[in-house]
Amino acid sequence: MRMILFSSRQYDSDTFTEANAAHGYELHFQESHLDADTTVLAQGCEVVCPFVNDHVDAAVLERLHAGGTRLIALRSAGFNHVDLAAAERLGIPIVRVPAYSPHAVAEHAVGLILALNRRLPRAVARTREGDFSLHGLLGFDLHGKTVGVIGTGMIGRVFGRIMAGFGMRVLAHDPGTPADDLLALGARYVPLDTLLAESDVVSLHCPLLPSTYHLIDGAALAKMKRGAMLVNTGRGGLVEANALIGALKDGQLGNLGLDVYEEEGGIFFEDHSNLPLQDDVLARLLMFPNVIVTAHQAFFTREAMNEIAQTTLGNVAAWQAGTPRNAVRAADQA
Ligand code: NAD
Repeated sequence: MRMILFSSRQYDSDTFTEANAAHGYELHFQESHLDADTTVLAQGCEVVCPFVNDHVDAAVLERLHAGGTRLIALRSAGFNHVDLAAAERLGIPIVRVPAYSPHAVAEHAVGLILALNRRLPRAVARTREGDFSLHGLLGFDLHGKTVGVIGTGMIGRVFGRIMAGFGMRVLAHDPGTPADDLLALGARYVPLDTLLAESDVVSLHCPLLPSTYHLIDGAALAKMKRGAMLVNTGRGGLVEANALIGALKDGQLGNLGLDVYEEEGGIFFEDHSNLPLQDDVLARLLMFPNVIVTAHQAFFTREAMNEIAQTTLGNVAAWQAGTPRNAVRAADQA
């Protein structure tokens, strides 16, 4: 069976080729993004495997269907980039990797917090230049401070547990069932406004849905504790990027760590170092000394990559056997 992986890089090819030893599918690795213009590359491929910044909208799905595609196997947990209603109309199942390593993403969020708080990128650049001074590197103890976890699913729970280990008071906000392990560690579930008002560090771990789009906008930033830190390893669209600039300029936002950015498509996962950055908002954000941006790398550990490849190919095998698993439906996008 032919399967095409869009937006693939050498590391995808390495891990999927290894995992495919158990399946023997005909894998085609394609660097191009999936969009209406590149669907032609999937002609004759029963299975299409997009990545997070590929556009899997109705027009793309219709073209893929006409070209013989019968399954979309996402190699991600998030599915906000897929028109699930259109897929359902066309009878194309969408399967995903619901959990690969929640630790990978949670640990990266913690890494951003530590790097921001203790100014690690600046400190390293400084010592490399022979400057061993400490001015401008003053941080704060995480111990005794309050962290707000927005979304306590698989990743948010791991993150909350790690932060409790630092001796932080944990506030959580999630419309779903509270996580027992966080409650056992003394976490308190509170309304979003309370979390924003009381947290020294706010970390986003909820999915991007119509209801969470721009969850953190100018009004939400104004409700945060003055000088607090915001970390987003969820999805770019959770935060209104434009609103961040004003909040950083006037000190309302003290530190910002982004692993995702709402306009990251076409920028993240690519080397633009020889080109002028065309995105003015991102360019401005990168100028702040109290902002760290990583290019959607929170998932990127050996363990997570292996799990992604194995689960994705396992999803294809289950679908082929008539016992589909890890499917997402239009109702999940409400
Ligand atoms: P999950 O489904 O286990 O948990 C998501 C949680 O968010 C659920 O408990 C849900 O009830 C909650 N939620 C929904 N709406 C909410 C709202 N309005 N406010 C607060 N909470 C809300 O998902 P997960 O595996 O923990 O992943 C979370 C998100 O992390 C994914 O949707 C994905 O977008 C993102 N992610 C990012 C990376 C990365 O590399 N940066 C990798 C994997 C996942």
